Amino acid sequence: MAQMFDIRKVTIGPKNLEAIVEVAPSAPLMTSDDAEGTSLVLDLIPELADHICLGDASSHFGGVIENTELAHLLEHVTVELLARTDLAGDISSGRTIEVGDRLYEITFACPDDVLVAAALSSAVWILQWAYSGGGDPQPDVDAIASGLVGLVESLDGGDADQSEGAEEELEFSDEAEEGAYLDPESAEAADLAGEDPEAFEELEDAEDFEDQDPEEELVEDPDAEANQDDEPSQDDPRSGSWPENVPRPRFVR
Ligand SMILES: [Zn+2]
Repeated sequence: MAQMFDIRKVTIGPKNLEAIVEVAPSAPLMTSDDAEGTSLVLDLIPELADHICLGDASSHFGGVIENTELAHLLEHVTVELLARTDLAGDISSGRTIEVGDRLYEITFACPDDVLVAAALSSAVWILQWAYSGGGDPQPDVDAIASGLVGLVESLDGGDADQSEGAEEELEFSDEAEEGAYLDPESAEAADLAGEDPEAFEELEDAEDFEDQDPEEELVEDPDAEANQDDEPSQDDPRSGSWPENVPRPRFVR
């Protein structure tokens, strides 16, 4: 299937991250439109059923998961990834509202914009996997969460040696000439958002989620957890900086 979700716009406020998400015409709009895909998601992340879900027919997401908007499922998968990082505090829910034809606004409490944006991008990719028929390898949800932790830690600097290397490696060199992508060359990315919300408003037209090769991204790294507290791998600078389990978010300013 072509790309299911198009993240049209991300707005980062002092407390929330708001994403405008378009569901592709070829993608199911409701989870009931592709019950098989939905059960793949639920098999992969059974915890979703226990999510608190206010403002819907049931108080738990399990009560609605089989017949709700794909965008709503995307919200809950993102929240689950955030919960597994243990970095997101008490984020137990987001909010999804329909704002147009196949267009949804998903709002998350946002302790860290990079963390939330990367979790959203990973959730897009998990759903893409499920609604493309599943298959091997399955996404490793815990490894993805570990990857998100590693990402945030690398951007937060860590020790001096490490952050210098990380900065270089995190540049999106292939897109650099466009100069428009969120550039984690800086921990300033995260800092800016805190100090000057204006600076990070309206990241538009994130795209190209489909160019990530699931096979490549899905390689399980049994060491991912063990490596969390270590410096990034020195032997492969490309994979050392960006956790291999985390699709790169590409947000255009
Ligand atoms: Zn919900």
